[in-house]
Amino acid sequence: MTDQRAARIARLIKPLRVKPGSKVNLAKDFDPGYKAGYVKKKDASQIMRNGIAMLCDYQARLAAQDRYGVLVCLQALDAGGKDGTIRHVMSGVNPQGVHVTGFKVPSAEELDHDYLWRYARHLPARGDIAIFNRSHYEEVLVVRVHPENLDRQKLPEDAKGDGVWRRRYREINDWERYLTDNGFRLVKMFLNLSEEEQRTRFFKRLDLPEKNWKFSAADVRERQRWDDYQEAFSQMLSATSTPWAPWYVIPADHKWFARLCAAAVLVHTLIDIDPQYPRVSQERHEQLLLVKGELEAQAPEGAPADPFAARQATKAGAAHARASEKAKASPPAT
Ligand code: AMP
Ligand code: MG
Repeated sequence: MTDQRAARIARLIKPLRVKPGSKVNLAKDFDPGYKAGYVKKKDASQIMRNGIAMLCDYQARLAAQDRYGVLVCLQALDAGGKDGTIRHVMSGVNPQGVHVTGFKVPSAEELDHDYLWRYARHLPARGDIAIFNRSHYEEVLVVRVHPENLDRQKLPEDAKGDGVWRRRYREINDWERYLTDNGFRLVKMFLNLSEEEQRTRFFKRLDLPEKNWKFSAADVRERQRWDDYQEAFSQMLSATSTPWAPWYVIPADHKWFARLCAAAVLVHTLIDIDPQYPRVSQERHEQLLLVKGELEAQAPEGAPADPFAARQATKAGAAHARASEKAKASPPAT
């Protein structure tokens, strides 16, 4: 991994980060159609492939090191592209190290617990990446826009009232700080869609028979609360973008650009963690040499003592021969 590549990623995501302590006005501060100077999907496709390859490499190291875990929280309005983002960004990683959980309307059992309980049950283990498709942030979004959700939560009287959202922001920030202090990093992304692009995507679900199953009349009703959601998102971003777990507002009107940014934000966090393959101790290394000697002594007649090393040497020899053939075919210009 070159420092240049890390610097390019940092540059790409910088304008998307919500500065901790800043007051966000979503409509004014973030453009859903932003493309960072890229014009078409194909301009970014090689960078996307590189990003996916980097994710794959980092995830393998994260799992081998088994010290840090990563929690990705994805929020969006309906048709914001959460599912597609997960599908594309995680397309190269080992499925054993990634767990995706979608959060829907809470069940009776979930409502019988504190509001963070159901999210805590799906946190990543060390070495894992967990993805929340919707997250604990619904507790200050849909629950805020539709207060009847709060009524269903069976809270004691003095836990409701005016201060409830401010208190939830504080509790969420504290919880995330606790997780970060214990080796679990949060990657929080809000896919920011424009009202007109959402309308277009609803039409896609209405017009294409293979997309009909995805259409929900409830989503169209929810759209009537657009301004309330924009306000709830703005307040949430202002109150919960912290130095330990900042928010990124991902421009979502161009799906290919949203996916590129989501991959970049995740890679950026992994670069920062910089997980390493564990090195064995000197003592263990000496044990390995002893076992090696025993296995070498078991080589059948005519077989190399270390067949793996022999195979590697053959491969390296063939590659060298190919390179000199190529050099001979096109000698350097004099
Ligand atoms: P979808 O992600 O399209 O399958 O829809 C899930 C639905 O669950 C959305 O309408 C969310 O608003 C709703 N939902 C998710 N979390 C909560 C919550 N904590 N309280 C109430 N509704 C929720
Ligand atoms: Mg939905």
